Amino acid sequence: MVLELLAIGGGAVVVKDMFVHQIEADDSLSWVNDAWLQFARDNKATHLTREAILGRPLWDFITEATTRHFYQIIVQRVRTLARVIKLHYRCDSPEKRRFMRMEIHPLGEGRLQFRNWILREEVRPALELLAASDGGSGRLITMCSWCKRVNNPTAGEWQEPEQAVLQMQLFNCATPPPITHGICSACEKALEAEIEILA
Ligand SMILES: [Zn+2]
Repeated sequence: MVLELLAIGGGAVVVKDMFVHQIEADDSLSWVNDAWLQFARDNKATHLTREAILGRPLWDFITEATTRHFYQIIVQRVRTLARVIKLHYRCDSPEKRRFMRMEIHPLGEGRLQFRNWILREEVRPALELLAASDGGSGRLITMCSWCKRVNNPTAGEWQEPEQAVLQMQLFNCATPPPITHGICSACEKALEAEIEILA
């Protein structure tokens, strides 16, 4: 192993505790580390072996439409901006709240590396997950079709997807709310101004 430790955010993470996967320019999975496979096994996803996943599109494994949509936008941004994007998200098991960290690194030629690790875990009664994921809240996410920002009614503003993921916990493994498309106030103003010029 080239690096035993990577300095991250002032702390250090042992590489073996980092779950890493890599995709090619066509979004197919080309590499996962042993810790990634172990994490899958620990979470009862024993069907996720190297043989079963490599070569397949990443999107085969992110089946929920809202989450996939956000992921695709973020992946596109890492490639376009050619810089690392860092996210916080939740990956809960029935008995644990898991606070996760993800970094998406551009490796050139469209290849991306996803580094995930657990920041902390909290044990909780298993029932709580059911309460959190019953989908009965009627919550609906509105995304601006133009700038892809997300309406966060709690914050009273339109936010970048990265920020919304964090604040609205959209990557929580529990089913995220459905998404609808709209237009934010800033884009609406810009479009109105453009229409005025045309007229
Ligand atoms: Zn907008």
